[in-house]
Amino acid sequence: MIKPPILSESQMEIWRKPLNLQNFKSSRGEVHIIEERCKECNYCINYCPKEVLERSDKTNSHGYHPVTVKKGKEDACVACGMCQTICPDFAIFITEVKT
Ligand code: SF4
Ligand code: SF4
Repeated sequence: MIKPPILSESQMEIWRKPLNLQNFKSSRGEVHIIEERCKECNYCINYCPKEVLERSDKTNSHGYHPVTVKKGKEDACVACGMCQTICPDFAIFITEVKT
C-alpha cells in the first residue's frame, strides 16, 4: 500500500493556499432576516463560517429572540448561503452585494 507523504506545517500551508489567491475577491452578502419567522433554533448562528450572526435582544410575537448581524460584522458576510440553506423556517436569506 502506498503511504501518503508526510508534509511539514509550512509545506501544508503552501499546499492548501492557491498560488494566485490575490487575483480573486471574496463575494459579499447582505443578510436579510424575517424576524417573525425565526424560531431561535440557532442553526444559522452555529453554521455561519464567518460568525456573522447572533441572537438579538428583541422578541418577536411568538416569544423568540430572532437572529441579527453582530455589531462590527456588517461587512463580513461572504454570501456562502449556508444560513439560508440550513434555516428550517425560511427566516433568513442573502443577497449578493456587487463590489
Ligand atoms: S451567507 Fe454565509 S457568511 Fe453570510 S451570514 Fe450566511 S452563513 Fe454567514
Ligand atoms: S436558522 Fe432560521 S429559525 Fe433558526 S435561528 Fe436562524 S433564522 Fe432563526
